[in-house]
Amino acid sequence: MRLLNKVAVITGGNSGIGKATAILLAKEGAKVVISGRDLELGREVVDLIKKSGGKAAFIRADVSKEAEIKNLIDFAIRLYGRIDILFNNAGIELQKTVTETTEEELNSVLNVNLKGVFFGCKHVIPHLIKQGGGSIINTASIAGLVGSPGLAAYCASKGGVVLLTKQVALDFAKSGVRVNCVCPGATMTPMVERFVAKSPNPEKTFEDLAKMHPMGRMAKPEEIANAVLFLASDESSFITGQALAVDGGLTAQ
Ligand code: NAP
Repeated sequence: MRLLNKVAVITGGNSGIGKATAILLAKEGAKVVISGRDLELGREVVDLIKKSGGKAAFIRADVSKEAEIKNLIDFAIRLYGRIDILFNNAGIELQKTVTETTEEELNSVLNVNLKGVFFGCKHVIPHLIKQGGGSIINTASIAGLVGSPGLAAYCASKGGVVLLTKQVALDFAKSGVRVNCVCPGATMTPMVERFVAKSPNPEKTFEDLAKMHPMGRMAKPEEIANAVLFLASDESSFITGQALAVDGGLTAQ
């Protein structure tokens, strides 16, 4: 067990990549606090983890609101006494070009995807410093490394997450706080299922998404979770400020 006695907080832990990560980190011994806005989905993940003998709790938190992020961090500290790992993962997508995007839509994507990560870092870092260190992992995207057609606000938000990760890593490297991000390729989660379902030709969209990766398929959420586990564990103890693409070779092209 690589995370025995560690405490991990996971935003967006009730679905997709966050859910797979919550299950994996709990299996590796971490006590897990998951959050999201959907209480029912959150309870399902907590039950799954508890049934396998793990420790988990859910608290509702909208990451677009700083006060709710602070409340999430305070809840984890009250419950388990410490935090060792924060996975800033909650996110939303928007299929629009820059000319189609309204101010309200841009604010909404930036507030969840970028502001949520920013304030997650802000409120957890004092606790990590007090304990002598910890690991923050942010979910960026391949859309934060290279441009993706039709994803203007999303790319802007994820590009921001990549550089914010590097910046925060530098400010706190001497305190033992490591900050990295994962950049998944298309991953089979409810986010992608929704995107495929609302496209004019879902079967073709699914195939196109798979084919854009040199490995010829999409990622499974568990494959992203494995990368997060590595960055959360002491096995990555000299790695900070990095953006790890988990993309079947897509950004190697
Ligand atoms: P997902 O299944 O839709 O999960 C998104 C999660 O974010 C849900 O748990 C959702 O919970 C939470 N969330 C959304 N808005 C929130 C808010 N305002 N406050 C708190 N939580 C919020 O999609 P996913 O693919 O696992 O996405 C996870 C992360 O991976 C996102 O950052 C996404 O951008 C990124 N990503 C995904 C892919 C992909 O292909 N799937 C690729 C690259 C990066 P509630 O709805 O309950 O709030």
